[in-house]
Amino acid sequence: MSVFDNDRFTRRNFLEATSRGAAAVGLGGLASSTMPTAKSDESQKPKLPAGVLGRTKYPVTLISFGAILIGEKLGTRILKAAIDQGVNLVHTSKSYRGGRSIEACGRLFKADKKYRDKVFFCLKSFTPEKESETDDGLKMLGTDHVDVVLTEFHKPSLKRLEAIQAQQDKLKKKGKVRYTGFVCHVDMNGAMEMVLEKAPDYFDITLMAMGMAAAGKSKDKSDADTQRFLKNLKALREKGIGILSMKSGAKKVVTKGAKLFQAHAKAILEAGADSVLTSMNTLQQVQMLKNLDLKNPHLTPRERKAAVDLDRSRSDACLMCGRCNKVCPRGLPVSDLMRIRMYHDEYGWPDHARDEFSMLDVDAPGLSTACGNCSVCTDVCPVGLAGAGTVQQVASFFV
Ligand code: SF4
Ligand code: SF4
Repeated sequence: MSVFDNDRFTRRNFLEATSRGAAAVGLGGLASSTMPTAKSDESQKPKLPAGVLGRTKYPVTLISFGAILIGEKLGTRILKAAIDQGVNLVHTSKSYRGGRSIEACGRLFKADKKYRDKVFFCLKSFTPEKESETDDGLKMLGTDHVDVVLTEFHKPSLKRLEAIQAQQDKLKKKGKVRYTGFVCHVDMNGAMEMVLEKAPDYFDITLMAMGMAAAGKSKDKSDADTQRFLKNLKALREKGIGILSMKSGAKKVVTKGAKLFQAHAKAILEAGADSVLTSMNTLQQVQMLKNLDLKNPHLTPRERKAAVDLDRSRSDACLMCGRCNKVCPRGLPVSDLMRIRMYHDEYGWPDHARDEFSMLDVDAPGLSTACGNCSVCTDVCPVGLAGAGTVQQVASFFV
């Protein structure tokens, strides 16, 4: 296993910390107590346990920062605290919180450029054809490059795969990104298999929904699709692609304290992730990171039981397997609707749910009549979530 290798950390600027500039945006209070000042060899190791992000060789901390929930000055303070704590990978999108997430990141980087240098920054991309999308993101972040653009590749489409490669080649050539990447949370097996077949050596990093990874490890939920997912994940790792996990349930578990979060994180790392991307939106959650013991990758029997119990407590959580989409005779984006339901109900993010719904090619009043109540999607859903009832429920959020 390649994780928990603290000795490969080489990024020179990692610990060159300063509170200058941060004070200019009202962040100085946090800086004084948490900012490292020494630059001894010992201090140049990551402060938190780290692994290696695939072929990039970047010493990514095992827990990374999902910025989807932050905004305003408090969000900037939370991000700064996470970086001070040692977290060294951050992910956001221009779309999160109507742009407030990326603005919160940009506020920190513009106030103190060293914070940009301390992290591996991942920016989500939606449209490969639009370079302006990345340019806008760079401007909002106050940086001339991000480390990777993770472009949506949700279904196995050769045309889209080629468009993504053309986009990322161009961005790399212009120095706007350093590495290549894609993000997937719909037909993940289909997308992974197309990458493995058509572009096995192209991508450096992927961000994957890891619900199926957790399910594949559980006796009650494991089936052919989840085993296929684990096999594909392993094949991507063997190709040297760094794996970031999302939608594993980490957001919910991070609110439950260090012991449970540690068990969950170790289970996701064991399933194949290099780092567990976790959406944090309180200083308490960030401070809890220093109490995690992730140096030993092996789950104790107690941790394994806790991880299984946590997974069972999310027994109807969407695994993002995409089976429902493939069978719906009305062509509805059922898995997207179930993901939006998760944002709204499970995560308590109604604004984000609305933003995501607005990106779908459906309208709420029409959705009720579009669904033919045939229950074909229910028949294939491994967790019994997809169905006319939940589709109607999502429609009701937005009418
Ligand atoms: S119940 Fe509705 S969403 Fe499900 S397959 Fe039938 S038409 Fe599609
Ligand atoms: S709703 Fe069910 S079938 Fe559809 S993606 Fe989620 S787990 Fe898979």
